Amino acid sequence: MTRWDSLLLVQDHDLHIDQLTHRSETLPARASLADLDGKTAELNAKIAEVDGRLAELGRSQQRLEDEIASMRERASQADKQLYSGTTNNPRELQALQDDIASIQRRISKLEDDELEVMEATEPVDAERQKLGAQQAKLDEVGTALLAELAEAESEIDAEITSVRAERDAAAAHVDDELLAEYDGMRKRFGGIAIARLAGSTCQGCHLSLSAVEVDRIRHLSLDERVLCEECGRLLVRT
Ligand SMILES: [Zn+2]
Repeated sequence: MTRWDSLLLVQDHDLHIDQLTHRSETLPARASLADLDGKTAELNAKIAEVDGRLAELGRSQQRLEDEIASMRERASQADKQLYSGTTNNPRELQALQDDIASIQRRISKLEDDELEVMEATEPVDAERQKLGAQQAKLDEVGTALLAELAEAESEIDAEITSVRAERDAAAAHVDDELLAEYDGMRKRFGGIAIARLAGSTCQGCHLSLSAVEVDRIRHLSLDERVLCEECGRLLVRT
């Protein structure tokens, strides 16, 4: 076995690691999680909008309740005055009664308004609950997907660790300088730095070498460094 065979073995393991890394990066759970993120963001925007409407309705109701309370207080003051016996003047007593009646009408109107606000709140509350249930469901799906992803990732990571150990064992037979060159070539050549020469065909670029070149190579020792004249990759001969 020449250093080229050893290097080819290193490359087999590296390609295997590349495949595993790609598989990890493209796990279906990842796409599902990205999709879920989009749905969650959309739902959260809806929830924020509904919460805004609910807060506005709540403020309206509070304003009405505050005004009703203050009107009741005014009515009670007028009532006390009416029955306190401080005045016997019929016109003043009539004015107080009119005032109380007017306050009562105002209270009745405010109560009607409050009822309307409460009625308007009901469907918005129901919508908010529906959205909350949807959010809980999405959270549940997300948790399951994360667990699925973690399990798949850890399986692939374990496989990568084992392949990397084999790769390092194979790399121990190749000198550092050649390994460094090989790493650089792999980056330039899309992962394949070294290829077998099958007959006159380079298995890296699948082009045939010229008869002259094939003949020249044939006379070199197997350990000699040979590059494919078409693509520039290292060639392994048998
Ligand atoms: Zn080639």
